[in-house]
Amino acid sequence: MGFHMTYYLSYKFRLLLLFTLCLTVVGWATNNYFVRAIQEIPKAKNFIANFKKTMVLSKKEPLTSEAPVKKADLDNCPAVSPYLRGQDKLIFKPDLTLEDVQAENPKVHQGRYRPEECKAPQRVAILIPHRNRERHLMYLLEHLHPFLQRQQLDYGIYIIHQAGSKKFNRAKLLNVGYIEALKDATWDCFIFHDVDLVPENDLNLYKCEDQPKHLVVGRNSTGYRVELHRMKIVRPMPDVGKYTMIFHTRDQGNEVNVDRMKLLHQVSRVWRTDGLNSCVYRLLSVDYNPLYINITADFWSGP
Ligand code: UDP
Ligand code: MN
Repeated sequence: MGFHMTYYLSYKFRLLLLFTLCLTVVGWATNNYFVRAIQEIPKAKNFIANFKKTMVLSKKEPLTSEAPVKKADLDNCPAVSPYLRGQDKLIFKPDLTLEDVQAENPKVHQGRYRPEECKAPQRVAILIPHRNRERHLMYLLEHLHPFLQRQQLDYGIYIIHQAGSKKFNRAKLLNVGYIEALKDATWDCFIFHDVDLVPENDLNLYKCEDQPKHLVVGRNSTGYRVELHRMKIVRPMPDVGKYTMIFHTRDQGNEVNVDRMKLLHQVSRVWRTDGLNSCVYRLLSVDYNPLYINITADFWSGP
């Protein structure tokens, strides 16, 4: 009986020992596996953390309700803005007023905007030559402000207004805009924009690359100079570079230039010195309107 008891106990004990051993081995193995599995995917962990951040950012809640974030603390904006929506159908409401457009864009101050949620890599100035096209300007502003904000850009819109009734000089106005905008703020990138062309697709990014970019595909009017500089012009894909052109008749003071061909032939001779170096103008005013900065100038010698 004593022997049997001992045998019985030791058998039970051995079984227990074996079981404990097995548990230890299994425990050690699985623990090791999990530790390694987690260590091997730090990228995935980062990814998930960033993803969560992105999700928070794309919520509609205003970030301003939280403690104010210092500009330096902001992360860089993502390579692709989460707000882009591609091709849009543009509607031009006949009874729209500039006050409506102002009310629709409360985050624009004195023609400028920067994303609250991230730091944009460039500061982009949009230069729009203008005279006597107030309705076009209103429709452009209505679409361009939300368009640029969906691209998460740090931008400013400058209207370069030609005073008086002398012949309209679009190129000279753009030169004036360039010079005056740089006096106003530091800009990394300039976009020259007609007042009557409204972009339809926000994948058409209004920012600069190494090469100059022609944002309007199909309209090809002012390419020469850049070609003499041996720069290649970058163009977006045709379906992205679509614009709605607001219909208009030819303006007074902007009649077809009869010397056009003569002037174009001159380009290869004068392009290096003509332009910014010889831009003579009189600055009449700089006004900070809610949705744009208005620069008014006139020229006392025509081309
Ligand atoms: N523009 C303007 N007032 C004028 C003439 C021209 O504001 O009297 C500006 C406006 O930005 C316009 C651009 O210059 O979009 C080009 O002129 P226009 O529209 O006459 O050229 P086209 O339609 O022939 O390209
Ligand atoms: Mn036009």
